[in-house]
Amino acid sequence: MRKPMIAGNWKMYKTAGQAVFIVQDLAELIKDVKDVEVIVCPSYIALKSVSTVIEMDKLNMGLGAQNVYWEEEGAFTGEVSPMMLKDLRVDYVIVGHSERRHIFGETNEMVNKKLKAVLAHDMKPILCVGETKEEREEERTDEVIKEQLFGNLAEVSLRDIRKVVIAYEPVWAIGTGLTASSEDANDIIQNIRALIESLYGSEVAEDIRILYGGSVKPENITELMEEQEIDGALVGGASLDAQSFAKIVKYQSAEE
Ligand code: PEP
Repeated sequence: MRKPMIAGNWKMYKTAGQAVFIVQDLAELIKDVKDVEVIVCPSYIALKSVSTVIEMDKLNMGLGAQNVYWEEEGAFTGEVSPMMLKDLRVDYVIVGHSERRHIFGETNEMVNKKLKAVLAHDMKPILCVGETKEEREEERTDEVIKEQLFGNLAEVSLRDIRKVVIAYEPVWAIGTGLTASSEDANDIIQNIRALIESLYGSEVAEDIRILYGGSVKPENITELMEEQEIDGALVGGASLDAQSFAKIVKYQSAEE
């Protein structure tokens, strides 16, 4: 049974103080939610404060980072290492987000190095894959996702793959208000599961969690979560407000 996960990616929004306020508000709003794993991914700057409040107040949520560099330490001005994130009790690290790939030029090889560094420091990667609008129009979605997955998971062992969460995020749906239809997202996630099966076998494919991301909101989360293959959501814009993020986390109550 795959435990649903809802992760909020706060991108380059919120000061450390604002991040702590949201986390406290969110914790209060979702205090009765038991069967969903909730992750918040603030900016590097806010990780320490958020980590402290999660620990001190024993909050029902995990901590994620939005990025990492693959080296342990060294002369890499402006970068943050996996060892530093682990020291802040970070549980998950987003790798391969489309903004990193497209704005900062991260290649599949770089994403692979980051993913392996996260695993080597006993944290869990949230690996984002997804096609651009042009790639979709050229009917290259399957090919692009296969190339990303195979490249990003190169040399990842059967033991380590169990710690990986995948997020299918069509680039054209991120921050645009456009969402893949739930059936479409489900079909692509099913293909991703089949690719994982071809690499790691059916047991891993059955167990691995695959999220959907791209303009997820309180209004569309229930429909997405009704799909068989969708195990949760990576949420950007709608996770910046505690009320709307809490509604997404509590998608099951909306069904009642
Ligand atoms: C994201 O940043 O991963 C994302 C899906 O953003 P949004 O929900 O704003 O589309």
